[in-house]
Amino acid sequence: MADSPTTGMIGLGNMGGRIARRIRDGGYPIVGYDASPAALEQSGVVAAASIAELVERSDVVFLSLPDSHVIEAVVHGDDGLLASARDGQVVIDLSTADPGSSARIHGELGSKGVEFIDAGISGGAAAAERGTLVIMAGGSPAPLAALAAVFETFSSAVYHMGEPGSGHTTKVLNNFLNAIALAATAEAMVAGRKAGLDLAQLLDVLNHSTGVNFATLNRFPHVIEGDYLEGGLTNELMAKDMRLYLALLQQLGVTSFTGTACLGAFDLAGALGYGKQISNRVVDAIGDVAGGVRLQGYERTVDPGGESR
Ligand code: NAD
Repeated sequence: MADSPTTGMIGLGNMGGRIARRIRDGGYPIVGYDASPAALEQSGVVAAASIAELVERSDVVFLSLPDSHVIEAVVHGDDGLLASARDGQVVIDLSTADPGSSARIHGELGSKGVEFIDAGISGGAAAAERGTLVIMAGGSPAPLAALAAVFETFSSAVYHMGEPGSGHTTKVLNNFLNAIALAATAEAMVAGRKAGLDLAQLLDVLNHSTGVNFATLNRFPHVIEGDYLEGGLTNELMAKDMRLYLALLQQLGVTSFTGTACLGAFDLAGALGYGKQISNRVVDAIGDVAGGVRLQGYERTVDPGGESR
């Protein structure tokens, strides 16, 4: 691997676009490809005309694609990765994908001398923007070490999880916990609103109590102010991740007692028209079903400085 490898990004949406700009601004040449001309243009990244051209121009090819159906099409298509990748190249899949499919792709690309890394990412759009994503990777550790400086442009930690597929398995487990914390907090916040609680005070209490979680800390303080943090994972993609979680547990012979309920919340959001909006909007879907409840515009009923012990 060259000291300053050339890189490519296939999929320049919310995550891929941000990560590609971090890699470019970190000093590594990058070309991008996206099936959507608008996404390609908005990314501001130098464009390749096709996947084959991107592969030709890159030592390292990153993927940031919606799901395994799309990833498999990009790998197996006529001008796809399998047809165009060369011995010694590295392909790093930053998508959240089916671990079984990812493990099969390892084998297929491996037979051409191409290293494939399934690398789940966590932190969302804000961490991608700041370059503080957490990476959970499966496959050979050697490319992770060789590309440490490239990873540093967009991540704060890289964990090697083991065998092919283990990175995406880890990501699916993490996103179940992320999703269920979001759906459960959304439900509690809608109930709190209907109960007439001061929502800022409610969050403050939760954040100092045993109900604290990522959503109470990082999502709802913004949501109650009307900022849904658009630009992050959509309800559709969250529902996709929950389906991956349920399939994984079934395959492992583990009964999921809460996964279906959690999937239901994000499917509800899709059915009510919030599918392409950020998954924080699940709170509006739950609010719709509760009679049109919104978390914004409530009256403060508590003196913000007036907590007692
Ligand atoms: P996105 O929908 O914003 O971006 C996906 C991009 O892929 C789009 O620009 C789309 O046009 C492009 N694309 C679709 N089909 C293509 C094809 N055949 N060839 C080339 N490009 C194609 O999604 P995102 O939010 O950036 O998420 C990307 C992946 O990262 C998903 O797997 C998601 O689950 C995962 N992820 C997202 C977040 C997040 O916070 N958004 C966090 C962690 C992981």
